[in-house]
Amino acid sequence: MSNLIIAKFGGTSVADFEAMSRCADIILANAAIRVVVVSASSGVTNLLVEITKTTNVTERYDAYAGIEAITLAVLNHLAQPEQVAQAIELLLAELKALIENGGAVYSSAHKDLIQSFGERLSSALFSQVLSERGAKAQCFDIRRVMRTDSRFGRAEPQVKQIAELAEVHLQPLIAEQRIVTQGFIGQDEFEQTTTLGRGGSDYSAALLAEALQADTVQIWTDVVGIFTTDPRLTDQARCIAEISFDEAAEMATFGAKVLHPATLIPAMRRNIAVFVGSSREPQAGGTWIAKEVQQRPPYRAIALRKSQTLITVKSPDMLHAAGFLARVFDILSRHQISVDLVTTSEISVALTLDEGGMTSAFSHAVEPALLELRAFCDVVVEQGLSLVAVIGNHLHSSKGITGELFQTLERINMRLICHGASKHNLCFLVQDADAPGVVKQLHSRLFSL
Ligand code: ADP
Ligand code: ASP
Ligand code: MG
Repeated sequence: MSNLIIAKFGGTSVADFEAMSRCADIILANAAIRVVVVSASSGVTNLLVEITKTTNVTERYDAYAGIEAITLAVLNHLAQPEQVAQAIELLLAELKALIENGGAVYSSAHKDLIQSFGERLSSALFSQVLSERGAKAQCFDIRRVMRTDSRFGRAEPQVKQIAELAEVHLQPLIAEQRIVTQGFIGQDEFEQTTTLGRGGSDYSAALLAEALQADTVQIWTDVVGIFTTDPRLTDQARCIAEISFDEAAEMATFGAKVLHPATLIPAMRRNIAVFVGSSREPQAGGTWIAKEVQQRPPYRAIALRKSQTLITVKSPDMLHAAGFLARVFDILSRHQISVDLVTTSEISVALTLDEGGMTSAFSHAVEPALLELRAFCDVVVEQGLSLVAVIGNHLHSSKGITGELFQTLERINMRLICHGASKHNLCFLVQDADAPGVVKQLHSRLFSL
């Protein structure tokens, strides 16, 4: 369908009835918005995660009570709550049953199922809000279309099947009415509910845009666009009117939370424009992300990703011997460990892992690999580090870039600097505690007018 817009509304945008009403205004003002993807209301996914993490039954019920309160507050504001009350009651009862019969520890499949309730509740409520505003709207269970593999917690979308299922189940509906559906969740081939990873609703919206051949994805959030850095870090951050796919993808990869890291992959595949704006201030403009842009400045933005793990592997025996790096990376790859940044010398390699610190689940996956590496190397693991990424254009070949960086941060202990491999980024590690100050200082140097 040409002239089709997929609009995604994040957690704060659907936090309560008033916020949902503002989203309805945006949708009603634009007839091309036929598919609406919603996140769970703000705070709900965190509460669901808490249910899956704690073994304490009282804590599970407390979290459930929080979710129920957020849900009922919206329901009670509706003009015709009876239209959706039964669906909401069923969802809440199903969630409660999962808590009652949960046992001490949830399986990873159950964790994803539990986390799916946030989006399932918010989409049911939001489609009623939209209907009450006069729109012809229907809530659609995206699990019928969003086919993924079975990697719970970080499921991989199956793009070809999603396109086929969207063609059959979704495409015929959107001409007649607006579809309200869930971000973040999907379903594997065995009809088990999966999730795409935290913040995954942006990715869902882009995947649906690709499947339905939409022109534009709108990401409505709590900031008026993509900024030169997280506006929470410095009040000097300013909104970027237009940015290329490459630059925005780098920003998302390196921690700019405003977009899930994978969001731009489907958009780039099909050249779909992405707009980021504030559902609170839709008139304030926003950021357009596109393939071609008017300007490509050397410095575009600074991104920050906290809680990184740095692993240094050293083997003096490998001096002048071939195959050291191949051996190290073979071990990491066999354990399905994805490496982020790398620097090397002949007998050592330093690398960061992209899972954001050693959570217990993650260290569980990494430990066996470290054991294998320790059989022929000295291995040092450092935590509590932040990755700072300067994003821009031609950074690998422009004069004076590193000089500017080192001058600005001469008092900071920088660990592992990666420069030269990408024309769009220059990355380095600093201590977590230093990171906000480093971003602020660097931003002031690179972006002050
Ligand atoms: P949503 O719930 O709408 O998906 P998120 O909290 O996931 O919203 O993303 C929006 C947040 O991203 C902002 O509140 C902001 O603090 C953070 N953020 C990080 N980096 C940037 C950036 N470069 N530009 C804008 N926002 C950013
Ligand atoms: N509700 C999910 C989360 O909080 C997905 C999203 O908001 O994009 O991570
Ligand atoms: Mg988000």
